[in-house]
Amino acid sequence: MKPNIALTAALCLAVAACSEAPAPDAEVATPEAVATANPLLEDWDTPFGVPPFDRIESEHYLPAIRASMEAHNAEIDAIIASPDAPTFDNTIEALELSGAGLSRVSRIFSAVDGANSDDVTKETAKTIAPELSAHGDNISLNKDLFERVLAVYEQRDDLDLSAEQSHLLNETHKQFVRSGANLEDAAQERLREINSELAELSQQFSENLLDETNNFELLVTDRADLGDIPASLVALAAEEAKRRGHECDECWVFTLHRPSINPFLQYSPNREMRKTLFDGYAMRGDNDNEQDNKGIISRMVSLRAERSALMGYDNHASFILSDNMAENPDNVYNLLDQVWKPALARSKEERADMQAMMTADGIDDRLRGWDWRYYTEKVRKAKYDLDDDALRPYFEVNAVRDGVFALASTLWDLQFEQRDDLPTWHPDQQVFEVKEADGSHLAILYLDYFARESKRGGAWMNALRSQSNVDGFVTPIVTNNFNFPAPTEGSPSLLSLTNAETFFHEFGHALHGMFSDVRYTSLSGTNTPRDFVEFPSQVMENWMRTPEVLGMFAKHYETGESIPEEVVEKINASAKFNQGFATVEYMAAAYLDMAYHVVDSTEAVEPRGFEDAAMADIGLIDEILPRYRSGYFGHIFSSPTGYSAGYYSYMWSNILDADAFMAFEETDVLDKETAARYRQEILSKGGTRPGMELYRNFRGRDPEIEPLLKARGLN
Ligand SMILES: [Zn+2]
Repeated sequence: MKPNIALTAALCLAVAACSEAPAPDAEVATPEAVATANPLLEDWDTPFGVPPFDRIESEHYLPAIRASMEAHNAEIDAIIASPDAPTFDNTIEALELSGAGLSRVSRIFSAVDGANSDDVTKETAKTIAPELSAHGDNISLNKDLFERVLAVYEQRDDLDLSAEQSHLLNETHKQFVRSGANLEDAAQERLREINSELAELSQQFSENLLDETNNFELLVTDRADLGDIPASLVALAAEEAKRRGHECDECWVFTLHRPSINPFLQYSPNREMRKTLFDGYAMRGDNDNEQDNKGIISRMVSLRAERSALMGYDNHASFILSDNMAENPDNVYNLLDQVWKPALARSKEERADMQAMMTADGIDDRLRGWDWRYYTEKVRKAKYDLDDDALRPYFEVNAVRDGVFALASTLWDLQFEQRDDLPTWHPDQQVFEVKEADGSHLAILYLDYFARESKRGGAWMNALRSQSNVDGFVTPIVTNNFNFPAPTEGSPSLLSLTNAETFFHEFGHALHGMFSDVRYTSLSGTNTPRDFVEFPSQVMENWMRTPEVLGMFAKHYETGESIPEEVVEKINASAKFNQGFATVEYMAAAYLDMAYHVVDSTEAVEPRGFEDAAMADIGLIDEILPRYRSGYFGHIFSSPTGYSAGYYSYMWSNILDADAFMAFEETDVLDKETAARYRQEILSKGGTRPGMELYRNFRGRDPEIEPLLKARGLN
């Protein structure tokens, strides 16, 4: 994320993309009611300074955030009131250090509201979004403050600053300018209105999306319709039916949450039901009901375009990208277009394979979107003799965790000690102290595994406390959050191969936070340009499928037997299978995101038609939907900025991670020396230098695109 100002706090709410949060109308306690004993406003004497989750109530957040905004304002006033001439220390560094209290409480709030929300946190999120937006604007549009920043910036060549300090100065100045500090009064006024409206609209978008996701259910009463859905997931569906009050001897409820919908689409032979579930998922936010998101999208797109015009850019994408590695829309399209053609061609071959299988099944119809995942499994089995589901027993959630830890121990000699004594926000959470080889403390890591209604979709990392070293070394506290299937009475949580990959991915973000070794919070850990931040996470996925790493952890949860060698071979042989689909599905969403954000402010957008036209433009086949249709594209619409004009980042970062992993393959995938260099040049550096510079320092050259194409089998 972007450095500095109060934005750090506001961005916390946005930081974990694809937010699918807020709703209802609970009573929110007034500041007076709880101000007397609010643990969020106290100093904590907990071990390592972890948040006292056992004492924090949902009612504490709103008054604590508001009080912290007040405190932040006082700090800003003090900077401005200084009788001394502006210096780096009394202005830039002072500004960097201001708002620490607000940052602390809003980080915790955003983590809890994302992973364990209730009516109170949802209401708080809705209430606080516009207030935080205004707070950010009050700081970034404060003329006296900007004057001091500018005074320091203008002396930049004469100051004796470290490289990181220079970077902080440049970034601070840039963020003020990007937040409108140079605009005329009337334009600034309009900017405030736009920001505030975007904050409210995005909140409403998330709320609608969560409702649409939770309100849907598919009731199954005939066991035959379950097909080969894994027993552990069938049990989960039976529990869901009970939880929802269905009184039947044998029935199951499938929902639009990933651990529920995916297996049904993969394994249920009932084509009609697959269609019902598929459509339920695809039409969220597009049902012309109260939760419809189309009006919100249209308004957000137009506000973003208007804002970018105020800032002097052609469109929102140009504005956003000017602050990223990609720099401009042309560079993004150039990357996407290189991969799109081979990916689309591959997806058509995949379609032909599946059509043949479906025809052989005696079905007299062409393949449809709701058939794709079902026949993917059949083709996978036929071609590679690999049953995705048969792998699950080797991927019990704790075993995968041990694999992630074993890899980190091998590469960087880390140690992980479980700490059941530390408070958590949910009883299912596990907490670990992470230590260096010599036993010294590195970080605290929280893991929250299972899907539940109080958690938004997807997987993400939060930093509850970022590393910094201005006033003594502050160690990081990070969390990983997942939507894995919860254990049932008869079965532990058994992950799919993809789930296991997600675990490695998020742990990569965690490492980026934990290995950070910089001076300033706003440049530490994952505070990097958006198209760089997925590099350290995606690179970890590469390790998971290697025989070396699978051998470390993939053991049958009942027998303890290691995953058989021939299965590992099959996993690797099938690694490129269905990559046409995966790439096309992702890229279609990336193109859709770009399309929405290259429109100019005079263009009114009608999402349904707009999406159709954008997908027709790239020649998307109608058996594949973009991974996110507009109505549930939380990455780009559920926060004021989020991943807007940034969903391409995963592929941009993919160039870096595929090329970086090759550095390991060239020596040994477990090579400690390369790992040490990777830690030193990339993971420890946060956002203290431009991404490309960090990359060159690690690799000794620019990244190349071939490894990405090769990894996806598209070259
Ligand atoms: Zn990620």
